[in-house]
Amino acid sequence: MYRKILHCDINNFYASVEVLHHPKLGAYPVAVGGSAEERHGIILAKNYIAKPFGIQVGMALWQAKERCKDLIIVPPDYPKYQKFSALFREILSEYSDYVEPFGLDESWVDVTDICGKPDAARLLADEIRERVKKELGLTISIGVSYNKIFAKLGSDIKKPDATTVISPTNFKKVVWGLSASDLLGVGRSAGKRLASSGINTIGDIANADAACLEHIFGKWGLHLYTYANGLDTSPVKPSSYEREIKSVGNSTTCPRDLENSNDAHIVFYNLAESVCERMREIGMMAKTVQISLRDTDLRTFERQAVLSKPSVVAAELTDTALLLLKKNYNWKLPLRSIGIRGMNLVPFEQTPQISMFEDDNKRVRTENLEFTIDGIRRRFGYLSVQRLLMYSGGKLGKLDAKSSNIIHPVGFS
Ligand SMILES: [Mg+2]
Repeated sequence: MYRKILHCDINNFYASVEVLHHPKLGAYPVAVGGSAEERHGIILAKNYIAKPFGIQVGMALWQAKERCKDLIIVPPDYPKYQKFSALFREILSEYSDYVEPFGLDESWVDVTDICGKPDAARLLADEIRERVKKELGLTISIGVSYNKIFAKLGSDIKKPDATTVISPTNFKKVVWGLSASDLLGVGRSAGKRLASSGINTIGDIANADAACLEHIFGKWGLHLYTYANGLDTSPVKPSSYEREIKSVGNSTTCPRDLENSNDAHIVFYNLAESVCERMREIGMMAKTVQISLRDTDLRTFERQAVLSKPSVVAAELTDTALLLLKKNYNWKLPLRSIGIRGMNLVPFEQTPQISMFEDDNKRVRTENLEFTIDGIRRRFGYLSVQRLLMYSGGKLGKLDAKSSNIIHPVGFS
């Protein structure tokens, strides 16, 4: 029997939540946008009224204003979005023990057990849409399919407030004509790489020679082949999975051995970014940082320290990691691999917005900026945003920070 998997995606999440809190805005083109500095801010979300003006997520605020003079720009309020995200997941949890979040506004739900009859999953999807609309005031789009990849694709096909079914019998018709970059795991730059090999649609991937894809793109090419043919078998993770996460870590064997603290700084930062992104996704922050080091004689050791405040800010975790390293390592041998882990996790709470202390205000801006970057990366690919620091390290800065033991959304490992 085929699995029944829903992918539920809240439409224009940030913008919808803002309109909900300020109903008068509903009649106007609205965007959520901002960054540490207003001048360099970008659009994070928009409502449907703003869409015909050509307002796009990722666009600079000034550019958006140029396209739509009357655009109302609201600054993001992440604690509020996290609250709604939790309520959304709570509703989904009533239908299944298998609810796996992907970002704040999307979740997979495995409903195989309660959807035996044909069409049952589609009817259930419609019911969930109505409930979320009634209880949270938000519209969602749902993809219904027999694997996670197609369910996610389905939720993108009809928006807002719609259900799309992709079945083993209709998937070639529904999916194969779509652009290759619509597939989960294909970012903008990956899309270009595929196009340069003559692969433009998902159908092109599906009909390519698997060995050939692997030859050109490595293991990732094989994953894409599996996805495009509807053969992905990765399970929806149980809801308890997130609750039981005690720590989030990432480590890597470096492209070259590390010779000094500057080298280590670049790699720690790279790793800390993915660790913090993951913590933000599960709404937690770390009280303790642990580092692990392995030298070129393959001796391994670990050290840990308590942060001055619980944190989800990559720079703060990195600073503590570096201090630990400097205190505990003498560089007689280069380091072959290093890792960083956030431990003693506690629920995320934003630093109070208005504070007498400029340091706190700066911290709020940094926290907001990092949430913003998560959103952009989710949309445009991990490498779409890179810190200046990463460019100073040659090969070290180009680590794929997501390749290590951090949990990948769809079971790359
Ligand atoms: Mg969404």
